[in-house]
Amino acid sequence: MARYVYDFTEGGRDMADLLGGKGSNLAEMTRLGLPVPPGFTLTTEACRVFLSTGSEPAGLGEELAAHLSAVEGAAGRLLGQPDNPLLLSVRSGARFSMPGMMETILDIGLNDESVLGLAKVSGSDRFAWDSYRRLVQMFGSTVMGVDPAQFERALILLKDVRGVPDDVHLDAGDLAQLVDTYKGLIHVETGEHFPQAPAEQLRRSVLAVFKSWNGERARLYRRREHIPDDLGTAVNVQRMVFGNLGPDSGSGVAFTRNPATGEPGLYGDYLPNAQGEDVVAGIRNTMPLTDLERLDPRSYARLRAHTRTLERHYRDLCDIEFTIEHGRLWMLQTRIGKRTAEAAFAIAAELADEGLITPDESLARVSGDGLAQLMFPRFDTSATGAPLAHGLPASPGAAVGAVVFHSPDAVRRATAGEKVVLVRQETTPDDLPGMIAAQAVLTSRGGKTSHAAVVARGMGKVCVCGAEELAVDVETGHFTAPDGTVVEEGAVISVDGSAGAVYAGAVPLADSEVMRFLESGPDDETAGDTGGEPTGDVHAKAPWLIGAVDRALTRADAVRRLEVRANADTPEDAARARRFGAQGIGLCRTEHMFLGERRKLVEEMILARSDAERDRALAALLPLQRQDFAGILKAMDGLPVTIRLLDPPLHEFLPDRTDLSVRIATAEARGGLPTANDVDLLAAVNRMHEENPMLGLRGVRLGLVIPGLVAMQARAIGEAVAERTRAGGAPRAEIMVPLVGDVRELRIVRRAVKQVLDEVSSTAGVPVTCPVGTMIELPRAALTAGRIAEAAEFFSFGTNDLTQTTWGFSRDDVEAEFFSTYLDKGVFPASPFETLDRDGVGRLIRIGVAEGRAARPDLKIGVCGEHGGDPGSVHFFHTVGLDYVSCSPFRVPVARLEAGRAALEATDVSDSR
Ligand code: ADP
Ligand code: MG
Ligand code: MG
Repeated sequence: MARYVYDFTEGGRDMADLLGGKGSNLAEMTRLGLPVPPGFTLTTEACRVFLSTGSEPAGLGEELAAHLSAVEGAAGRLLGQPDNPLLLSVRSGARFSMPGMMETILDIGLNDESVLGLAKVSGSDRFAWDSYRRLVQMFGSTVMGVDPAQFERALILLKDVRGVPDDVHLDAGDLAQLVDTYKGLIHVETGEHFPQAPAEQLRRSVLAVFKSWNGERARLYRRREHIPDDLGTAVNVQRMVFGNLGPDSGSGVAFTRNPATGEPGLYGDYLPNAQGEDVVAGIRNTMPLTDLERLDPRSYARLRAHTRTLERHYRDLCDIEFTIEHGRLWMLQTRIGKRTAEAAFAIAAELADEGLITPDESLARVSGDGLAQLMFPRFDTSATGAPLAHGLPASPGAAVGAVVFHSPDAVRRATAGEKVVLVRQETTPDDLPGMIAAQAVLTSRGGKTSHAAVVARGMGKVCVCGAEELAVDVETGHFTAPDGTVVEEGAVISVDGSAGAVYAGAVPLADSEVMRFLESGPDDETAGDTGGEPTGDVHAKAPWLIGAVDRALTRADAVRRLEVRANADTPEDAARARRFGAQGIGLCRTEHMFLGERRKLVEEMILARSDAERDRALAALLPLQRQDFAGILKAMDGLPVTIRLLDPPLHEFLPDRTDLSVRIATAEARGGLPTANDVDLLAAVNRMHEENPMLGLRGVRLGLVIPGLVAMQARAIGEAVAERTRAGGAPRAEIMVPLVGDVRELRIVRRAVKQVLDEVSSTAGVPVTCPVGTMIELPRAALTAGRIAEAAEFFSFGTNDLTQTTWGFSRDDVEAEFFSTYLDKGVFPASPFETLDRDGVGRLIRIGVAEGRAARPDLKIGVCGEHGGDPGSVHFFHTVGLDYVSCSPFRVPVARLEAGRAALEATDVSDSR
């Protein structure tokens, strides 16, 4: 018979699929001997059965009762026992943590009778009524569906009537009155009474948690985080411990290291005389955890010891919830902590130094996306005045945007293309859509573990929280800074999540330290043989972060099999790519070299009436192209440079059709004659007009149709190689033919190229050999790769065009048109132009690789679409056995890192998600 319930003593960390993250970690802590209140877990399987059948799985009720009896037996009292009630919490806990997304109900077992018993045994009327009002509130909203704002309003009203600043100042009588108000609310809203039977409270709470899996917030979060919808949540039932029993009690949240910077040492918030979510809800201001050392040194020391145990055991940053009940410490939750990109690099390096993880594991713990974040610009504060206000630096980065105060406004304005900053006193899960839409989140209350901070860090979004100096008034739509400055909705502010500062207006941006470090190039070039001394203040500024990034990249370079090249069209880009660690150029587009002043020559080439005219134009282009190539080959001396022959449709180089028509019409209207040139141009433009230029006369087709074009480009390349060779360089040009669909196209071009190169060789008196290869960017090319490989020395998958031609849509037309709808409706998990579509485009790549290599075992194969710098796609390219990826220069470090991680993943060294 299926089993649906496990005691905490029976589970463990490796059972997360079944017990959820929270449940499996509670079990793991129990096994480690840490003080965890006893309890048990209903499995995700029970949830899946419930959600699919609409009713409880058979036998679940009995199992639940049996486990409840065990907990009651150990406690020596019964759930809701009138004179001395055992109370329980019912906590959701899915496989992957979804902070604040689903429901938890505390203090189950209280009713009109047992609240009196609890008052008596605890000696505190206030505590008993405080717990009861929490239960009625949580049960009322989560299980019975009453809008939580109603309860909030009743609480605020009572505080106002009593003239007290916060809930701690309400006495037992006030709270008893609140319970009555709440119960009345429930009855009015639902027509039902708050259930008094503890067993019913428990059962309905469990089912409500199951149902919360399909709540709107939870679904939105899952879509964003790419968590599958069919996992279901486990439910943990646990004996309550109480942080609201007076000043020697409290609740807190801790991280074993600083999750924003990675700095070692306990980090977190504590709130005396508080229960559960009070700490993160921002209702009262918390104290930093270090103050607990003063307040309750014994509990603090225990907490330190337990967090060390956990960090050693999990070998990673842990995030912890704890409660102190009358000076006794209880551990309520742990999990691997979310962290900023900066902290991820720092912690990975430190844990390796401490010997807790291997260098390979250390590499597996960081990511290309994280590195990309660290390369973002920071504010250049040398140029600005004093900040408007300071808050806590909760999630780093620099963001500028217009102030908005409500989540729907943020969504509306962002959808219209505006950059916004969401400003709130504090955020709740209901603000999630606005947080996603905003550039940054700014709150005036709450600690670094408040909802705003945790969620923003998880999303890599800039956040400053707890900026108490700001008086935020969301109702009237403005906030006031301490110096009296009033900032209205719509005004632009700048938020520095690294420094915790807020500025009026748009602060200019400067390069990040990590970017400057990466731009300074590999050590062997800058440091020379001076023994690798740190080069200047760049390294001094954020030395350990830079050291950590350096170590991760060095390790990645050591283990990766994929080479990383860059897409670059100019000597400057080539040089930068090289400093970023590129091992060559995988795509040098020659069309950019046809623009600017040279356009005139291109026009002449296209419009030529005779071979002689065309040859004259080509001859004029030749030296210019040669110069371009020589410059790039010099910047990449010793490394391969893949030069692609002209690709785009020719009419792109001619003037706009409408402009020309207007010019001619205007001339005629003035009674004059249009210039002969304009008339010729218009005729040419009309002749070349294509309905679908993307599928028209371009790529290799141009080379076959325009006599002399391929020969001119080949000559420019060959002569540049000869020039560089004579200058003592080591040029390694490769010639790449675009948009080939059939081997015969390639054969014709190849013959022309080789002939020119032979001529150049003999004229120049130096050997000029360039491998000739092709792009694979049409389905037909991939499907006939075996034939094509007979004439190609290398392949480079052009995944942008291959994606367009495989799907049959043009990027320029569809991205704005319907991509957001497709993403919303879940047709695309991600844009296929950002992350490679493995099933379709990826399949063509697999075929191309297999058949190409079968025909020519030494075929060199790379990829030169934008996917070459996308982390997920890099892993795929590694798996299918490509030799290199090529991406934009700025993505080169990202691709290096991910290529290393991909190699580890293939050998299964990496840890779980
Ligand atoms: P979430 O996943 O949103 O963090 P939790 O299940 O962790 O939800 O519970 C919400 C709050 O209630 C947390 O602060 C937690 O520590 C507290 N809590 C949960 N169970 C208990 C318990 N048995 N005793 C005391 N506090 C509890
Ligand atoms: Mg929790
Ligand atoms: Mg292309």
